[in-house]
Amino acid sequence: MQKTMKGFAMLGIGEVGWIEKEVPNCGPCDAIVRPIALAPCTSDVHTVWEGAIGERKDMILGHEAVGEVVEVGELVRDFKPGDKVIVPAITPNWSSLEAQAGYPMHSDGMLSGWKFSNFKDGVFAEFFHVNDADGNLALLPEGIDPAHAAMIPDMVVTGFHGVDLADVRFGDSVVVVGIGPVGLMSVAGANMRGASHIYAVGTRPNCVAAAKAYGATDIINYKEGDIADQILEKTNGKGVDRVIVAGGNNDTFAQAIRMLKPGGKIGNVNYLGSGDYIRIPRIEWGVGMGHKSIVGGLTPGGRLWMEKMAALLETGKLDTSLLVTHTFHGFDKIEEALMLMKDKPADLIKPVVLIDW
Ligand code: NDP
Ligand code: ZN
Repeated sequence: MQKTMKGFAMLGIGEVGWIEKEVPNCGPCDAIVRPIALAPCTSDVHTVWEGAIGERKDMILGHEAVGEVVEVGELVRDFKPGDKVIVPAITPNWSSLEAQAGYPMHSDGMLSGWKFSNFKDGVFAEFFHVNDADGNLALLPEGIDPAHAAMIPDMVVTGFHGVDLADVRFGDSVVVVGIGPVGLMSVAGANMRGASHIYAVGTRPNCVAAAKAYGATDIINYKEGDIADQILEKTNGKGVDRVIVAGGNNDTFAQAIRMLKPGGKIGNVNYLGSGDYIRIPRIEWGVGMGHKSIVGGLTPGGRLWMEKMAALLETGKLDTSLLVTHTFHGFDKIEEALMLMKDKPADLIKPVVLIDW
């Protein structure tokens, strides 16, 4: 195998570019993978242009990939070179105490299950390293388009995690704030969980059309007035059972508290890129006694989730093709795809780069 490789990296806050690095080493439980489908993420944009997790020097970006295994460590049981795999954005250390406690995404420290493009080089490289291959890789089922499967590592599981955090149940009324690719998967997940009214908040026409296709019953335009006011008007002042936050800003939580019924839950998966505090309105929070809870979470990652989500695509219960609005061909197109994610043109939901080595 070659000794060095090309990767598209964060050079420092606000700066990106191509760099040359050594091909990573494979540990005994690990795998080295070559990407065949890659997707840039809004999180890459927060990381680079907002400096949201602090300074990173020459760190290869990207955490959403489908790839082909090129090497495995001697202790890996279930994968071999040539296997096509779905690689989760979050690759926990499954023997950590945090994983045993049910929080694999925080294995070895808060948010530390998120390794790619955070604590180590990401997937926008000719080769990338996957820790704990048996615990983190999943085989790509035959017949699933890698571009559609590339929505699984982060978009599907993050959107669905929002549904889990908000604890959506049969007949619940749900607001999904933000209908980019993550929020769209929250709409789809809430619908699969049996939500009744699903109020989807966003404006871009492609996103609005996809939200309706995934089960939104109402569309709320945040540019046409306060979203809490709009929801309270539509629900005769009662509010909703659940709010999933997959977009917006630090003020979204005040709105979410206002539009939530007592006993309701807010599940946040939005990556808050700036600011120091989140404000909660005292009166609408029941002066501290309203049983309105807020949980924010990084998606769990790992093999089981990847396999289960792949099974949803295989059985046709979930169609991720609606998310993929822009397809590029060739490794060198990563830069263009990432800039698209940064600029968010009106017709964009999610770009994918397909690579034929
Ligand atoms: P997008 O930028 O594509 O979508 C954001 C959505 O929020 C759009 O629908 C946008 O509307 C809407 N929006 C923008 N401003 C407001 C506002 N003031 N009030 C209400 N809605 C608003 O993002 P993605 O779907 O790609 O990602 C969503 C978030 O999830 C990001 O912060 C991302 O970093 C994070 N993320 C978190 C992960 C986790 O594990 N927790 C993993 C992956 C991503 P419009 O239609 O007008 O553009
Ligand atoms: Zn992502």
